[in-house]
Amino acid sequence: MAANSGRLTVITGPSGVGKGTLVKQLLERHPTIWLSVSATTRAPRDGELEGQSYFFHSHEQFDQLVKAGGLLEWAEFAGNRYGTPRQPVEEHLSNGRPVLLEIELEGARQVRRSFSNGFQIFLAPPSFEELERRIRGRGTDADEAIQRRLQRAQQELQAQEEFDAVVVNDNIERALAELETLMGLV
Ligand code: ADP
Ligand code: 5GP
Repeated sequence: MAANSGRLTVITGPSGVGKGTLVKQLLERHPTIWLSVSATTRAPRDGELEGQSYFFHSHEQFDQLVKAGGLLEWAEFAGNRYGTPRQPVEEHLSNGRPVLLEIELEGARQVRRSFSNGFQIFLAPPSFEELERRIRGRGTDADEAIQRRLQRAQQELQAQEEFDAVVVNDNIERALAELETLMGLV
């Protein structure tokens, strides 16, 4: 990588652990971080905006992106596909900006292969029961989607040791401070 290239950080963790909550606060405190906006075939949730939350695509559009090599990584998750647009990540890194990806396990594994000097953080819940409480408490997913997400969470939790660091999201402020230290922001 070029001498002025920014650092790539990946945050992974089961659905409902608090990735979105923590990443939002991280960006508010450190506006220099650039957060990648993913492409997905999932339908928008209430309040989600095209180009800000995600780029929402049909399955056909997503296929085209994959075929054209436009995604750095992509994976299926709970019946939908999600992927990271390649070009903006490469551009921001070469401009020296810290880049953050908030993606699931399979995507993190793909990124690990292509960016061996990236830093990968696993966000873990204090317990599985608390994870379930948070997913249900969020109130954004139908019961079937919650079941699929909890099943996937069991698998994801077993992969923690693959990561450079594990942060337990017990308390938002504490977890945030740990992320800031790990990412060299403080
Ligand atoms: P993810 O992006 O990982 O799916 P969210 O950020 O949407 O998770 O968080 C899921 C739910 O858990 C939200 O309702 C959020 O307010 C709540 N939450 C996040 N972090 C904590 C925490 N440390 N303690 C208690 N609740 C939390
Ligand atoms: P949600 O539907 O809750 O927004 O996201 C579901 C899962 O997809 C989360 O674990 C999230 O981290 C992951 N995800 C979001 N964008 C991407 C992406 O671009 N690539 C991959 N591999 N996973 C993603």
